[in-house]
Amino acid sequence: MKAIVTGGTGLVGYGIRAAVEADKREDEEWVFLSSADGDLTDMAQCEAIFARHKPTHVIHLAARVGGLFDNMSHNLDFLRQNMLLNMNVLECCRKFEVKKCVSCLSTCIFPDKTTYPIDETMLHNGPPHDSNFGYSFAKRMVDVFDRAYHEQHGCHFTSVIPTNIYGPHDNFNIQGGHVIPGLIHKVYKAKTQGEALTCWGSGSPLRQFVFSEDLGRLMVWTLREYPEIDPIILSVGEEDEVSIRDVVHMVARAADFQGDIVFDTTKADGQFKKTANNAKLRKYLPDFKFTPIEEGIKKSVKWFFDNYDSARK
Ligand code: NDP
Repeated sequence: MKAIVTGGTGLVGYGIRAAVEADKREDEEWVFLSSADGDLTDMAQCEAIFARHKPTHVIHLAARVGGLFDNMSHNLDFLRQNMLLNMNVLECCRKFEVKKCVSCLSTCIFPDKTTYPIDETMLHNGPPHDSNFGYSFAKRMVDVFDRAYHEQHGCHFTSVIPTNIYGPHDNFNIQGGHVIPGLIHKVYKAKTQGEALTCWGSGSPLRQFVFSEDLGRLMVWTLREYPEIDPIILSVGEEDEVSIRDVVHMVARAADFQGDIVFDTTKADGQFKKTANNAKLRKYLPDFKFTPIEEGIKKSVKWFFDNYDSARK
């Protein structure tokens, strides 16, 4: 097996590297790509990458990703760039006779109006939230392409659907980043500048978080073993949902922050919950052990403090 990982230099890419390092197999070769290896929105550059590496397996992570405000003001860019990226990578997988391709979707592309918990069968049951419709429709089309490539060419292309991901090598930008890396950066500032730690919103919303290195192990399993074309949710269970308030206190404890913690309730909370059901994953891997969130947060905080100068922020 020769596997290439597109977008291999991001948060999830590093999670996969850690998983591969921890479970080395002699008959596997892994190559982790970044945008410096070629712009995958350009078919000629995409083909050149496949011709150079001749992969038998692909994990496709590369994507234009961004926070709420970036999405809201650039829906067309998110739609076009992700459509181009995904179409080029999947078509190259067909042309170069790749045996299996695993792409990465997200729970934030599910219908806006839905019942909870969400599961894999509900992906196309209604329009996504207006704020990120460009990203969402482009990602949903990956599942449509997977089905079409399977029907017409017998290709084994599939996808995974993670919930909120966090870990080392995340984007720790406070304005544009996700909640855990944003809080980690804020606690660093609060600690070094002797200020209060301010959390946006009431802290009451509930979320499921998956540590990037757990997701890495699960995606490597998906590539090696998962037999279906239909997507699979990769997440901790509903019972492991935590409130943002709990997360704030875990981040503060991990950083040994002794100052005040303030919840700024003038800022929006977002959806109260977006619970996802991981029964399909549990059917395949009943004994998989997720890293407890307190431990994952400790590792992420330590990584950010140790790598402050080079971290994306
Ligand atoms: P990052 O932003 O950390 O990394 C994105 C990666 O894609 C980088 O390696 C980047 O390369 C590469 N890339 C971007 N544009 C191009 C391009 N045009 N050509 C080639 N490579 C490109 O993303 P994450 O690791 O957070 O996300 C990985 C996947 O997981 C994505 O598909 C995302 O949609 C999905 N996901 C992420 C979640 C999260 O919470 N982060 C939640 C659910 C799903 P370079 O570093 O060189 O720019």
